[in-house]
Amino acid sequence: MGNMEVGVMMSVGWRLDQLKQVRDLGFTNVQIAAPPEDVLQDQAKRQALINDLKAVGIDITTLFVGFSGESYADIPTVVETVGYLNPATRDERVKKTGLISDFAKALGVDKVAAHVGFVPEASDDPDYPPMVDTVGRVADHCGQNGQMFSLETGQETAPALLSFLKDLNRDNVKVNFDPANMILYGSGEPIEALGIVGEYVVSAHAKDGKWPTRSGQLGTEYPLGQGDVGIDRFVAKLKEIGYDGPITIEREIPDWEQKMNDLVEARKLLERLI
Ligand code: MG
Repeated sequence: MGNMEVGVMMSVGWRLDQLKQVRDLGFTNVQIAAPPEDVLQDQAKRQALINDLKAVGIDITTLFVGFSGESYADIPTVVETVGYLNPATRDERVKKTGLISDFAKALGVDKVAAHVGFVPEASDDPDYPPMVDTVGRVADHCGQNGQMFSLETGQETAPALLSFLKDLNRDNVKVNFDPANMILYGSGEPIEALGIVGEYVVSAHAKDGKWPTRSGQLGTEYPLGQGDVGIDRFVAKLKEIGYDGPITIEREIPDWEQKMNDLVEARKLLERLI
């Protein structure tokens, strides 16, 4: 899946009929959010879903990890609930990630990605070593399955992410670069950030957004081309760093019909730029 082929992110709660609609719009590839735990743990349900997904005939490039209890309401809530940062949910989430990696392997998918949670900016922060240890364990499980484990960008600055990647020191730890998240979390100018972590990028989201207006709040997502990312500069920078993987459109709105319209418009914009 090279040459910046345009795909779609199927977010948490996606349905099989929606996946077929995306295929029927002519999209050849998707990233999908992992199914819920009851499906992952039930052999019959798990196998039925694998069969259904294979029958759709669309290339699944990445399995995206997600956990019940995660909320993106505002930044303190993200710190508390997302990824592996909170010790109260850490071990169960590492286990679930293992199930997701195994499910991805059964599907023939060689990339697993996650919002790992806020990585502390300073390596002497007491939460930093447990994050290196935890993400390392998760990545090693993926490695045993022949997979890369990618960190979704945005919740930390690019220099902090780069230090974290170096401390993880594993060949299969990579980056899923989301330019809008850098803006939504106020973590830094996305094109510059892409230059900093470029060598690690194995997948990219095409998403747009505007900067937060108040501290502690997230910015606002916008249809591609209508936010502050500068999608033309983003695509140009991807080319400059030699990226040739898929570009996965992510549109995080609940209205499916509107989302389909936005996906089609976003693809037109991307294909012009690519
Ligand atoms: Mg994203």
